[in-house]
Amino acid sequence: MTDQYQLFSKTALGKLVIKNLGLPSPTTLDRFDVNQPVIHGAVLFAAARESIFSKSISQILANIHADTYSTEQYSELKQIAVETGLNLRVFNVSNKTSKFKALLFDASGITHVSQLKALYDFFHPVARQVQASGRVIIVGRSPDQAESLSQSIAQRALEGFVKSVAKEFKKGIAANLIYVDPDAPDNLESSLRFFLSPRSAYVSGQVVRVSNADHIAINWNQPLAGKTAVVTGASRGIGEAIAHILADDGAHVICLDVPQQQADLERVALEISGSVLTLDITATDAGEKIKAAAAEYGGLDILVHNAGVTRDKTLANMKPEQWDLVVNINIAANEAVNDYLLNHAGFNANGRIICVSSISGIAGNLGQSNYATSKAAVIGLVKFTAPTLKNGVTINAVAPGFIETQMTAAIPFAIREAGRRMNSMSQGGLPVDVAQTIAYFASPASSGVNGNVLRVCGQSLLGA
Ligand code: NAD
Repeated sequence: MTDQYQLFSKTALGKLVIKNLGLPSPTTLDRFDVNQPVIHGAVLFAAARESIFSKSISQILANIHADTYSTEQYSELKQIAVETGLNLRVFNVSNKTSKFKALLFDASGITHVSQLKALYDFFHPVARQVQASGRVIIVGRSPDQAESLSQSIAQRALEGFVKSVAKEFKKGIAANLIYVDPDAPDNLESSLRFFLSPRSAYVSGQVVRVSNADHIAINWNQPLAGKTAVVTGASRGIGEAIAHILADDGAHVICLDVPQQQADLERVALEISGSVLTLDITATDAGEKIKAAAAEYGGLDILVHNAGVTRDKTLANMKPEQWDLVVNINIAANEAVNDYLLNHAGFNANGRIICVSSISGIAGNLGQSNYATSKAAVIGLVKFTAPTLKNGVTINAVAPGFIETQMTAAIPFAIREAGRRMNSMSQGGLPVDVAQTIAYFASPASSGVNGNVLRVCGQSLLGA
């Protein structure tokens, strides 16, 4: 649905009213365009001394032909750039007119809180020089893989810094933190590309963990070429966007929804040259039917558990069937389908399971005790399943915040407007933002990304 306030904010009258009343002014976020490079604009790159991921980062920046700069101060990076074929240009900090699309800092060398000043030293002078829809990315070393308490504390501190910057920088600038295990530098590329690019438009103030796994080389223009995906609830809203993005990335998509949605489901499948599976995901044979449908296209590579419902009522007013319906569709079906597929060779090697949680499942929400319970359970499903998976299969979840769909259009006006604005982007996200995050998890190159729950919420204040 359309955000009328955002449209109004772009008019001359709107600008005047917003300025005088001190209201939020949402920036039109850059969104992914296949004809654009991964990042459109300059990257300022620096690293704390003795950081361990600078070579990988430099290699990735070279791979995406990023227009990259660093200051004289970071002389260690010069040699690394030469080795990786990165054309690293010099930026003089006294230059206050240049603007950057991304500020990128390798903080993995920080081993003590006294060295955290390196963050201040790098970001402070250029804090006003980030373009609209820009990026701040810090790459750290996973705190639970630290070699000392001091190192673990110092690395954990990065979270507070990134989340504060995400709140301060405004103008649609997203700030995120990638923790990489010391043995996983080769698994960083899909995450760094995602966070640098407009694919992560509505992901801010978040932390992702990258672990060591088989490195899988892909064609970055068609990361899902040859893959078969099943998307549940694909006839509209977020599910429809997921089906489109996975198809754009090269997958054959089997669009699944309930029989009542047949007409819309067929329309979506036709638009993306996919196929149709009408099925109630709570049916006892749902796992079997999904496996059989995917078998016709070489077996299942990607399963997106997107189907979900709300039946909002305060607990005192909630009917038992409203509880049951929400819990059965939103979590029990995910668990049962995964259980069947994982125990009946239902996934190809390097399969991807992606669940859809919600910030309600993290923060709780008035009138959503049933929904929040089910969405918190989704997080439990991901966390418990991730370390048990074999054969390169991964499981992750997105937790959307306020996304402009039929589901949120049904929320009463005042609550809807509050939900839409109470985040660092001052606007709701679009279904495509959730879909792009799912595509990042779905990529074969994300083999080291397992057990993550990534909020797609513009850094919503709820549950932050
Ligand atoms: P939507 O209501 O527009 O679409 C949900 C789809 O799921 C529908 O097509 C519906 O027919 C299908 N579905 C429902 N029950 C099913 C069943 N038993 N079997 C198969 N399909 C079934 O909702 P949406 O806003 O696109 O939400 C998609 C997902 O994102 C849901 O899991 C929702 O909880 C989650 N989510 C949405 C938001 C938001 O702001 N819209 C926020 C957080 C999480």
